[in-house]
Amino acid sequence: MTAVTPGLVCAHHHLYSALARGMPAPPRVPTDFASILELVWWRLDTALDLEMIRWSAMLGALEALESGTTAIVDHHESPNAIEGSLDVIAEACAEVGVRSLLAYGITDRHGPDGARRGLAENERFIRSGGRGLVGIHAAFTCSDASLADAAGLARDLGVGVHVHVCEGPGDGDAPRRLAGLTRDDWLLAHCVHLPTDHDLRGTILHNPASNLNNAVGYAEPARFRNPVALGTDGIGADMLGAFRLAYYLQRSSDVTCGPDPAWRWLTTGWDLVPEARTDEVTWSYDPMDPWHVAFTPAIRPLRVVVDGAVVLADGRPTRVDPDEIRAKAREQAARLHARL
Ligand SMILES: [Zn+2]
Repeated sequence: MTAVTPGLVCAHHHLYSALARGMPAPPRVPTDFASILELVWWRLDTALDLEMIRWSAMLGALEALESGTTAIVDHHESPNAIEGSLDVIAEACAEVGVRSLLAYGITDRHGPDGARRGLAENERFIRSGGRGLVGIHAAFTCSDASLADAAGLARDLGVGVHVHVCEGPGDGDAPRRLAGLTRDDWLLAHCVHLPTDHDLRGTILHNPASNLNNAVGYAEPARFRNPVALGTDGIGADMLGAFRLAYYLQRSSDVTCGPDPAWRWLTTGWDLVPEARTDEVTWSYDPMDPWHVAFTPAIRPLRVVVDGAVVLADGRPTRVDPDEIRAKAREQAARLHARL
C-alpha cells in the first residue's frame, strides 16, 4: 500500500548545523538559551569554512530527500566564510536534487563590517539568480541601521526577509524594533515569546523539536493570526516527525485538539516554495492523512520526483552516493570539531 503526496517543505533549517553532532562538549554546561547560543552555536558557526559548509549541506540535503522533503528554507551563518557561502549551499542541494530557498543571516555581533558583508552576500546571491530571501539573525544582535538596511534590500530585490523572532526571552524588543519593517513575505522563526497581539506581518515558522531541546517554552502558534509553517531549526528535515511533534505539543496544552492544525502548518510550506507542490513523493504507507500519520511511525519515501526527475528510487538517492556523503561529512565534522 503506497500513497503519493507533493514534496514536503522544511520552512526553517540550518544546514550548517548538520556537522554539530558529536561535537566536543562546550567549556561549561549552558544553563539557558542565551548561553546555548554563546557556548555552542556561536562557537560552531565562526569555525566553519566553505568545505565544511559544502558537506554539511550535502548531508542535510540528503537527509531531507530521505525524509520526502523536497524543499529546504535555510538560514545560514558562517562569519569567517561569508562570501560565496550561499552558492555552495545552493549547489549542494541541487546536486542531491532538492530545492532550496536560502538566506544569509546578518548580524552586528562581529561589528558593522560583518553585517555589511552578510548583506552583500544576500544581494550578490539573489542578483545572480539564486533563489533567496534576505536573512537577519535576530533583532537583538543587529543595530536598527542593519535591520533597516536588510528590510530595504529585500524590498529592492522583491523578496522577503527570514529572521528569528522572540525565540528566547532575550529578544523582547523585536516586536517594537521590527514593527513597520515586516511585510507579508517575511518569515518569522520561532515567535515563542512574541505576544499574541502584535503588529508583525509574515509567516510564523514553528520549530517544535528545537524549542523543546532549548527549553525556550511552547510557542503555541495556534494563538496567532499569521499563517504558520513548520521547520526543524537544523534538527534534520523529517517533516512528518515535525508534524507529529507539533501535534503532540499542541495536544499537551489542549487535549481537545486534533491533528488538523499541525497538518495545516505542514502544508503552509507550499505557500513558501510553491514548486514543491509539483514534486511527487511515493510513501511506504497509505493513507497519508493527519490521523494516520500522527500515529504511524517510520513512514518513509520510496520514490521522489523533483521537477520531473526521479531523485530517489527504491528508497535510494539516484544522483549521489549516500555512503560517500556520510563519509565526507564525517571527515569535515572531525576538522570542525578539532577547531572547537
Ligand atoms: Zn533557527
